[in-house]
Amino acid sequence: MNRRKILVANWKMYKTGAETLLFFEELKSLLPQKTSVEMVVAPPFTSLEAASKLSKSCGVKLSAQNMHWEEKGAFTGEISASMLKALFCEYVILGHSERRHIFHETDQEIHSKIKAALQHDLKIILCVGENLEERESNQTSSVLEKQLLSGLSGVSKAQLSQWVIAYEPVWAIGTGKVAEPAQAEEAHRFIRRKIWDTYDMDVAAALPILYGGSVKAENFKAISSQPNVDGALVGGASLQAKSFIEILKQMT
Ligand code: PEP
Repeated sequence: MNRRKILVANWKMYKTGAETLLFFEELKSLLPQKTSVEMVVAPPFTSLEAASKLSKSCGVKLSAQNMHWEEKGAFTGEISASMLKALFCEYVILGHSERRHIFHETDQEIHSKIKAALQHDLKIILCVGENLEERESNQTSSVLEKQLLSGLSGVSKAQLSQWVIAYEPVWAIGTGKVAEPAQAEEAHRFIRRKIWDTYDMDVAAALPILYGGSVKAENFKAISSQPNVDGALVGGASLQAKSFIEILKQMT
């Protein structure tokens, strides 16, 4: 099965609007003539507008890093799905481990965000992953299953066809400690199997599953060539156009 290959840059809380414009200018000069990989950049909310000016000419899609589940109201500091759509966002990352662990987002809150994103036709990049303690106590599968099934509750097969799942072991994010290719493949295979069991083989076979956690060009070739790995969600190494493009080259 020929699945979509996707490379997502998660800039976290880095880059002003001016720095965003510089990134895209440099990216444009480095882009290969043709690529079959779908490229997505998730800048901070305040840089989405700057990104939208140049991303299209680079063939790059925009994602938000988070959103609130309410449409509008007295929610100081929050951003709604329709505000993201107005800034040309196609995707939204939900359930990132930094949201789960630093901001104590629960599966229930993530699910509320998923429902709101679906209502506005935002494509979802759902992050799931175990922490070190959970891995060491053999709970990886049960953690993945819980996060996955909670996110998928009430989601139709047609809606799921627009999703991307990112397997991001928490112990590998921003730590320089990348998962072994076999560890990534095992988790991705488990996720695909769960989707098959919950929906059907076709939807499972078509779903892109990305790996995230200290990805850089030097370590990604081996992970990327695993049969169930369809791309990457990249933090640190996506901040420079050059290192981002180097990762892209490992996928083609
Ligand atoms: C991330 O932000 O999702 C991530 C995987 O970060 P890093 O690549 O820096 O580990």
